[in-house]
Amino acid sequence: MQTELTVAQADRLIRETVPAWPAEQVALHAATGRVLRQNVLAERDLPPYDRATMDGIALVWRSWSSGQREFPLEGMQSAGQAPGALSNAGAAWRIATGAPIPSGADTVVPVERIGDTKGGVRINDDYRPKRGQFIHRQGSDRRAGALLLKEGQRIGGVEMALLSANGVAQPRVGPDPRIALVSTGDELVGLDSRPESWQVRSSNGPAMSALLKRHGFGKVAAAHAPDDPDVLAQRIRKALSESDAMILSGGVSKGAKDYVPGVLTRLGARPILHRIRQRPGFPLWFGMHAEKPVFGLPGNPVSSLVCLRRYVVPALNQAQGAQPPAPEHATLTDEVGFRPSLTWFLPVRLSTDRDGRLLAQPRQTNTSGDFASLAQTDGFAQLPANRTRFPAGYTARIFRWNA
Ligand code: AMP
Ligand code: MG
Repeated sequence: MQTELTVAQADRLIRETVPAWPAEQVALHAATGRVLRQNVLAERDLPPYDRATMDGIALVWRSWSSGQREFPLEGMQSAGQAPGALSNAGAAWRIATGAPIPSGADTVVPVERIGDTKGGVRINDDYRPKRGQFIHRQGSDRRAGALLLKEGQRIGGVEMALLSANGVAQPRVGPDPRIALVSTGDELVGLDSRPESWQVRSSNGPAMSALLKRHGFGKVAAAHAPDDPDVLAQRIRKALSESDAMILSGGVSKGAKDYVPGVLTRLGARPILHRIRQRPGFPLWFGMHAEKPVFGLPGNPVSSLVCLRRYVVPALNQAQGAQPPAPEHATLTDEVGFRPSLTWFLPVRLSTDRDGRLLAQPRQTNTSGDFASLAQTDGFAQLPANRTRFPAGYTARIFRWNA
């Protein structure tokens, strides 16, 4: 097991250790929010046929250019109808947006540029159509077989449009993992009782569950365990048997009742790392129980949320097969200082300036227990260990709580 790693080392070790969960096929309607685990190719040319982009008439441009202005109408071409055909070069068809161009026609004149005549239409004298106008050509967006979506993208509206338009009824996707949360601590009470003066309400379970849900993890089950090694072992065993990944909060520091690492090891978990050179979140523990990742997060509410967002969410995304998002950066609005040679995760409120630059306003917490100061923050900045002063204008990597 490795201890007291830097943030970069810990990050790398966790990513190297986390398994790739197998893909599965699901019905398209159930695929929202899942990670696509296949490429998607164009089923047909896009668009699949020459289609009108305006309501108007379809005609032969040469007829207009050689002076013809009045056109007899041979029919109405609607969307959803097989294309008709012009019987001769002097004829025209009415046509609707999205309808296939009747064969023989090569140009669309919008309805605003024509007037009705007996049995036909007349193109306004002051209007000069361009040859081929208002036709969205077959294959002009993408050819059949072209790569439209790469694996690793999370399925939202855009991906759903391309999947359904290209006939992918059963996409291969990453799993929606079952995640077990176990918060530990004798001092914790739930919503159903009134805390004594020496007790605190348990908030890490609901907080972590909410953050995970905002990141697309819906199957989250929360449990609580007291600081008792035997009961803790029971709860952990049960949580492991019902989940694909487990996240604990509390009990990973050096206190006499911090039983989590010992119990996990006794239950057969393989410890990978303990303690990261960071604040908050120094005591973080990570290991594997068989194929299941297990994260032991420090119990302080700021620490557990920061560690969840910084390490657990990226690891779960990777296990699902997601491409890692591009790192985001923001510029500090105010100077901050930090003496210890630890990476500092500083809660920030984000905004943009007039040039579109992302700004991070520091919201320092009193301690890792001061979660009241997290209200109205959007995430945190990652400030490197190798300096103590971060002036206004300093640009840092940031992590958003909910994205
Ligand atoms: P620990 O990491 O177990 O030493 O916990 C550190 C501190 O975090 C505790 O003293 C509690 O005040 C707080 N804490 C631990 N677990 C929770 C929780 N589930 N909800 C809210 N606060 C917690
Ligand atoms: Mg504790």
